[in-house]
Amino acid sequence: MSEKPEWKLDILNASFLCGTPILAVIGAYWYTVNFGISLIEIGILFLMYIASGLSITAGYHRLFSHRSHSASWPLRLFYAVFGAAAFQNSAIKWCSDHRRHHLKTDTEEDPYTIMRGFFWAHMGWVMISEKEQQIEHVKDLQADPILVWQDKHIFKIGAFAGIIFPGLIGLLLIGGFSGFLGGLIWGGLVRLVIVHHGTFLINSGAHYWGKQNYSTKNTSRDSPILSLLTFGEGYHNFHHTFQSDYRNGHRWYHWDPTKWWIKIFSFIKITKNLNKVPNWSIENAKMKTSYEHKENSLNQNVKEQYNERLKNCTRQIRNLLKELKKKRIEYKDAKKNRKILLKETWRQKRIDMKMKIREVKSNIAIVRLEFRILIKEMKKQNNAISA
Ligand SMILES: [Zn+2]
Ligand SMILES: [Zn+2]
Repeated sequence: MSEKPEWKLDILNASFLCGTPILAVIGAYWYTVNFGISLIEIGILFLMYIASGLSITAGYHRLFSHRSHSASWPLRLFYAVFGAAAFQNSAIKWCSDHRRHHLKTDTEEDPYTIMRGFFWAHMGWVMISEKEQQIEHVKDLQADPILVWQDKHIFKIGAFAGIIFPGLIGLLLIGGFSGFLGGLIWGGLVRLVIVHHGTFLINSGAHYWGKQNYSTKNTSRDSPILSLLTFGEGYHNFHHTFQSDYRNGHRWYHWDPTKWWIKIFSFIKITKNLNKVPNWSIENAKMKTSYEHKENSLNQNVKEQYNERLKNCTRQIRNLLKELKKKRIEYKDAKKNRKILLKETWRQKRIDMKMKIREVKSNIAIVRLEFRILIKEMKKQNNAISA
């Protein structure tokens, strides 16, 4: 017989999570009525939002939890300091919970499982403690002296970087005690509440709203709207499917400031080894998932035929995208070494290589078309069954 977990309210966490939004609203109103608001307060809010928000998404999440790239110590220290300012616990504890979330998604052992409802996944799990949560699967992080230091002094670092520091900027730029309060209220309190609920929405909203484009194995979903509020973390179905990728929005036009931040630092070698899953793997997952969305109500005979066609498409796409990558690399290398060739020889070689690339591309287009036809046919079948 399974024992029902005993639960009790975590008074400190609950009063913090419920108290900070109230204090932020009262503080912001009181400050605006008494001192007005200028671009400086908005600027402090904005900079603190970016520093602490990105420390969670790029630092706690994509670097520490998932090891999707590596980063040199000044950036890790920045994440440790401003991640503490987000008041979401130390990186070691955050990552232990998060790695468990990925390992046990949607089960009782997932600390913020959506199966227990939106509120539980959003913030209930922080306010209610049921059993002593083990710190596990984080041995690699416990070997990083910066993270050990952060874990040991998390509240002091958080209070300084998240509350006093924005206050000091206010004191410096606005002046006087009111300036200090202005920085503290806007860059500390108001910003803290926004970053809190941005992160919380990934655990709740991103398992609730949006499309399942890459996998139907768990409740994670892709929501471009959520990405606007969360530095790109809304592409959560992609993330659950390819968690070692440093991107969550993998297309160039997907709104994912966290991936741009990580990429920009790679140009000056502060971040390295940015992990990207191959395009063919992404397209294969997309094809299989669109297929799964349409497959359910079909009868076994038709299913087998369609399945065969799906397998054909995924196999061809995998091979063709691999070939395209190879041909592009060959072309790049040849371009680099073109000086050793006669002008005319290089001209001919260039035309040949470009032709081959174009050929592969048109084959890819054909397979994509075949796949679209397959999905259309399945849709028709489904409509016929339901009519
Ligand atoms: Zn994750
Ligand atoms: Zn998730």
